[in-house]
Amino acid sequence: MSRTVNIADGMALPAIGQGTWYMGESPDLRRQEIAALQAGIECGLSVIDTAEMYADGGAERVVGEALQGRRDRVWLVSKFYPWNAGVVDAVEACERSLQRLRTDYLDLYLLHWRGNIPLEETIRAMEKLQQQGKIGRWGVSNFDTEDMQELWQAPGGTACAANQVLYHLASRGIEFELLPACQARQLPVMAYCPLAQAGRLRRDLMMHPALHEVAQQQDISVAQLMLAWVIRQPGVMAIPKAGSVTHVRENAAALTITLTDEQLMRLDSLFPPPQSKQPLDVV
Ligand code: NDP
Repeated sequence: MSRTVNIADGMALPAIGQGTWYMGESPDLRRQEIAALQAGIECGLSVIDTAEMYADGGAERVVGEALQGRRDRVWLVSKFYPWNAGVVDAVEACERSLQRLRTDYLDLYLLHWRGNIPLEETIRAMEKLQQQGKIGRWGVSNFDTEDMQELWQAPGGTACAANQVLYHLASRGIEFELLPACQARQLPVMAYCPLAQAGRLRRDLMMHPALHEVAQQQDISVAQLMLAWVIRQPGVMAIPKAGSVTHVRENAAALTITLTDEQLMRLDSLFPPPQSKQPLDVV
């Protein structure tokens, strides 16, 4: 069974999507990145996550090109800088993103991280964008439990449709408080860096002998193990970035992997769940 996550209004989305950080940085990789995104859409990874920040708009341009003729098959997410979170700036930032993405609407628009602009004002900006038909839903990113409580108490704040935060096997802090709080409100959590990013930590995890052993038991890769682990819980979606068709297909196949209780216990012993509140991990 392919895993899904219910977003507001009960719409079911695939529990694995596609990240785009670092796409659009190198002209040499552009064709490959577009091919990867399009292959992902073909495999059912219809949620694409991008941001005005990535490659200074370059990632949105790559996504825009990949989407040509496919927009209606994609659930498109972008993010705006905290300094663009006021009513006038948010509308302008959204219009610039739409232009780069070559579309006239976003399915979800996220405040990338919390800044100095009052949440009430950002909510008003999001409501305005919704009224204008430029965004379907809005949400936040890098919000810890206290930020979420504040948001939920603000007028219109319960309309928030997602919180995008760092979550992977070696960074489980959200499990103690934030994740249960979001699950209790049926607020989807979009797990970023589900493969622990492009650096040394990911390479170490990919080579981890015990992770290899668990993965081999099920005839899957360590990357698939890590993704299946992230999406094992209700309401959690993973958005790995993959720059090749091979990686995208491998990631898509993780949608149907279910880990056994025994495997999950083994992973708990290798990467223990938090026993107390941890500050939210960010990159
Ligand atoms: P990820 O954890 O997704 O790791 C990306 C790395 O994993 C890349 O090097 C990629 O290589 C590699 N990879 C992908 N698939 C496989 C596979 N099957 N086997 C082996 N390696 C694989 O890190 P990101 O930082 O990119 O996070 C994911 C997305 O989350 C971002 O792209 C972005 O959209 C979002 N994000 C949001 C943040 C926020 O503040 N809201 C912060 C950070 C990320 P290759 O490219 O060669 O395929």
